[in-house]
This record gives sequence, structure tokens and C-alpha cells, in this order.
Amino acid sequence: MKTVLIGVGQAGGKVTSALVDFDREMGFGAVKGALAVNSATADLQSLQLDTVLVGQDRVSGHGVGGDNELGAEVMQADVGEVMSALDGRITAEAEAIFVVAGLGGGTGSGGAPVLARELKRVYSVPVYALAILPGKSEGAMYQVNAGRSLKTLAREADSTILIDNDAWHSSGESLEEGFDSINQSIARRVGLVLAAGEAVEGVGESVVDTSEVINTLRSGSIAALGYAVADASDDPDANINVVTSVARNALLTGTSLPDATKAEAALLVLAGKPDRISRKGAERARKWLEEETGSMEVRGGDFPLDSERLAALVVLGGVERSGRVQEFLQRAKEAQERDEEPSDDGDKLFQNDELDNLL
Ligand code: GDP
Repeated sequence: MKTVLIGVGQAGGKVTSALVDFDREMGFGAVKGALAVNSATADLQSLQLDTVLVGQDRVSGHGVGGDNELGAEVMQADVGEVMSALDGRITAEAEAIFVVAGLGGGTGSGGAPVLARELKRVYSVPVYALAILPGKSEGAMYQVNAGRSLKTLAREADSTILIDNDAWHSSGESLEEGFDSINQSIARRVGLVLAAGEAVEGVGESVVDTSEVINTLRSGSIAALGYAVADASDDPDANINVVTSVARNALLTGTSLPDATKAEAALLVLAGKPDRISRKGAERARKWLEEETGSMEVRGGDFPLDSERLAALVVLGGVERSGRVQEFLQRAKEAQERDEEPSDDGDKLFQNDELDNLL
């Protein structure tokens, strides 16, 4: 999927940067352009990306703190500048635009839904969000910000791929210490999804196509990814169990939203040397995925990759009814109720009755 990435806020910029680096190192060429947008000058300076500073007249380059309503306002005021900076980058070959942001802070949390809405108004390609949920250990403000932002973002974007900051976090590291490694994990997994369909190492009948990723994401407003990798034998017949167990691990232990297994649609991508992928294993894994996700719409395909190992990538479309999303929204709601000054002062961007019904 040829993609243009726009990172909003600190996490958005860093994750975008990691995605650009991964795509370049692997030689995939799926990332066709990238831009970082922030209200804090300091967070933009450390990035090797083209940047746009928003809200200078309101916050003088100092950021919006954790105020996501201010984040939404400064994006709204300067969205024209962001759109001008994108001019010429979103060429005819772009198949999708991704807005990347952490939902717990201010600039990304408030700005991403505003930007997604404007992008949808102007461009005809799908506008997706890659959104990071705060971990459980983060404070109430982060949970409240993320709850409000998620509902709005899920409504504005064509699909919002959610990554829980607790999901790919190695034990023994604090969340902050772990950001760089979490960002690498996000880049590897999302980078593979973007590259799947670009068919880098040759084509075959069972090679996955970009349209299959798009159709899977189309089935709902919130999506998740699963990933696992395993050693494989040279002989595909010896890899039946390798394929089935790597697919199981991708869904059961490797998803970006832990325990989100119920989905409207799913796509199983097997990445590795095509002559090592057991067809019987792939078929069984797909059947199993149908049962486990409760979806009748499970697609599958190979991603030919010159690697000694076999990886399974699972794209889950339409996970909004999963326990994990409900649990998170409940956590955000409780945090908001505990908040001394629940701020529901009527910013239209954060009125989200439509999604309340959906969820
Ligand atoms: P903003 O600059 O105002 O948009 O705020 P941040 O991007 O710092 O958003 C804060 C949220 O993003 C919090 O929930 C953090 O846990 C998370 N976050 C901040 N930096 C990173 C990062 O580099 N990687 C990841 N995965 N999450 C981050």
C-alpha cells in the first residue's frame, strides 16, 4: 500500500520516523512521503522529517501541554498550512494516507481527528489513523484524553488501527524507557502491513494484494494488528504446524490490542520464503482464524520475503465490540468521572453521539 504518513504530536512524529526508517532499511518503498506536525518546536527539531509547526500564535512553539481541546483548536486554525505542506506529496500513486498520533497527550490527541477530517474532505484515497493508546500505568488525564480522541478519530478516519502501549512493551522496562523499542515494534509490524501487496520478491497466485488490506480495514471503524514469527524448515511439508502455530500466536499473544480477537473481518498474511509456506498449514490457519474471530470474512495471502523465518501478520478489521476496546472506554469514562473538572464544554469535535451508539 503506497502511503503518505503524517505524524501529529510527539509520539506521532517518532513513530512516523521509525516507520520511514524501517521502510527504507528493508527497501520496500511503500512509504512515499512523510511529514511531522506539532505545536512544540523542540519535538520537531529532533526528527529527520519535513515538519510543520502549528499554533505558534497561541502557544509560541511551547506545545499545548496535555490540553487536547487546545490541540484540536490549533490544528483547526492552521490546518491550511498542513494541507499546503502536503501539496504535491500526495501524488496519484498514493493509495492511502495515515495520520499517526498518540491519543493520550494534547497535540496528537486533539489534532489527529481534525486533520483526518480535513484530509477526507480533500482527498479521495482512504484516510487511516494509526493511534496509540496510553498504557494502564499512565495517569487519568491520558486516559480521558485518549477516550475522547478515540471516539472522534474513529468517526473521522476510514479506519483507526489501535496500538495499546502495553501490548508490545517488553517487561523490565518502564514505559518511557521502552518507547524506542515499542516504536521499533510498531514500525516493523505496521511497515510489513504497508509493504504487503508491494510484492517485493516476485509474484505468485497466493501473494497478498493491497486491496485485501483495504477491504479488511473497510469492515469497521477500529482495527488491530497481530504479529508473530517462528523458525521454519526448508521443507514446506514440515511447516504445517509452524504456520498454524505462528498464526495462533499472532492473534492470541501478539496483537496490538491484547485480547481483541472478535472482529468483523480478518486478513492473514504469511511472510517468508514462498517455497517454505505450507499450503495446508495456511488453509488450516485461516479456518482457525474464522472460528476464533467469529468472522465469515477471512482473507489470506503470502508476502514473499527473503528471510529464514516465517512471520504471521493478522489484520483485524472491525474490533470495536471487542472486550479490550470496551474496557478502555470504560477506563477513560471512570477517569473522567473522577476528574475534578470534567471538561465537556461543548467543542463540537468532541461530541460523539454517533460512536456512542456504535460502541
Ligand atoms: P503530544 O505531543 O501532545 O501529542 O503528546 P504525546 O505524543 O507525547 O502523547 C502522549 C501519549 O503518547 C502518551 O500516552 C504516551 O504514553 C505516548 N507516547 C509518547 N511518546 C511515545 C513514543 O515515542 N512511543 C509510543 N509508543 N508512545 C508514546
